[in-house]
Amino acid sequence: MNNIMLQDLLNKLKEYNPDEVEIVKKAYEYADTLHKGQMRQSGEPYISHPLNVAYILADMHADKDTVCAGLLHDTLEDTNITKEDIAHDFNQNIANLVDGVTKLSKMNFSTKQDQNYANTRKIITGITEDVRIIIIKLADRLHNMRTLEFKSEFKQKENALETMEIFVPLAYYIGAYRIKSELEDLSLQYLKPDMYKKIEERKIKIEEISNSCLKEMLYKIETLLKDRNIPNEIKVRTKNIYGIYKRLNEGHKLSDIHDLLSLKIMVDEIENCYLTLGLIHQEYHPINDKFKDYICNPKTNMYRSLHTTVFGPDDRLVQTQIRTFDMDKVASFGLTAYWDEQKGKARDVMQENLKQRFQFFKSLTEINSMFGDNQQFVNQVKSELFADRVYVYTTKGDIIELPKGATAIDFAYKIHTDIGNTMVGVFVNDEYVPVDYVLQNKDRVRIVTDDLSFGPRDDWEEKAHTSYAKKKIRDFNKK
Ligand code: MN
Repeated sequence: MNNIMLQDLLNKLKEYNPDEVEIVKKAYEYADTLHKGQMRQSGEPYISHPLNVAYILADMHADKDTVCAGLLHDTLEDTNITKEDIAHDFNQNIANLVDGVTKLSKMNFSTKQDQNYANTRKIITGITEDVRIIIIKLADRLHNMRTLEFKSEFKQKENALETMEIFVPLAYYIGAYRIKSELEDLSLQYLKPDMYKKIEERKIKIEEISNSCLKEMLYKIETLLKDRNIPNEIKVRTKNIYGIYKRLNEGHKLSDIHDLLSLKIMVDEIENCYLTLGLIHQEYHPINDKFKDYICNPKTNMYRSLHTTVFGPDDRLVQTQIRTFDMDKVASFGLTAYWDEQKGKARDVMQENLKQRFQFFKSLTEINSMFGDNQQFVNQVKSELFADRVYVYTTKGDIIELPKGATAIDFAYKIHTDIGNTMVGVFVNDEYVPVDYVLQNKDRVRIVTDDLSFGPRDDWEEKAHTSYAKKKIRDFNKK
């Protein structure tokens, strides 16, 4: 939406939080007065930026403190106001959030490398304290990326690169897919403009050709569900441009990307997801190895859905994604989908969820405690957490996520330190392999242990890929 006005923000808030409109209005007027006379490079009054940031947050159903902090996020930096003033005029929570975001913004990425690494570290570890600070920062970055056309070409490229390296992975890790895919597309647009245009044009063509096929399928499925009184909503969803770019880069042809277009089917409850799956498979032939059950096996960022690719009308391959309305909320907004659940306790609920349910949190805490040096910390996070992942199975069928390049040693230590320390052999897909076997997607891994083993071998530390396994091996050898 272009040209957001205060009224749009207030309307958005009324959709989910009608009682708290007044304080948001106050925050707007406060920020508007403070930024008076300041202009953005686009020529608009400065307030348009915080207003848009607050709107992005309200669109995610953020709590009132977060929306207010979105409106005030640049006041500490750009005006004479202090943190104490904000605490006095609003509340301590809002003051802390604004202060948190300001500390992150004080970075200047074209200055000294050292400072750069220190700030990047601050952004990344900020997530462990109050994830709302990162969410405000993501909203801030999203609006800046949307308005990047007014910056110099150098700034555009620099911002786009930094967005891909830091903000996209953070958005992924908290499950904020909507923000993630928009940030990816905006970045690609500036990093590879020609490529972006080419893919966009081809995508539009494919959408035109497939339109009638998808519509036909949509109505058919809708009727099937209606006949069985299953409440539902069905949407056509297309892969983002960056998603297509990535697949082309991996050597796929555009015609082979089977989830370029998909139907997203939302129903009321889990039982009906499986019922819907059955109905679709009876109507359209499924491709056997394209079926995924992320409901029973959620992704490590809590994404849940059934995916199946079928032969649709005209023998066109169509991916369908089936999930409940609640799961869809998590799929779009990730961690922030919990915002609605317990009003006023947003921070605690999200922090607790992050700790308990998001695997990356533990790894991040681990890396943070292991590396004193900022540059080493940032490099380790990039290669271990922000890099591509592999997903493998335990013998019980649980899914374990590891960075690409991880070996069986990493797997063993990820399951349990004792398993790593007593490992004497490894079976992958029922075949015996060496302990430094590099894991591939969908491997089934069985670790053979022996309580009488001598512990990790001397060369294991080198053969391990994750800092967690390396640390555990080092700890053992010290004893
Ligand atoms: Mn800003």
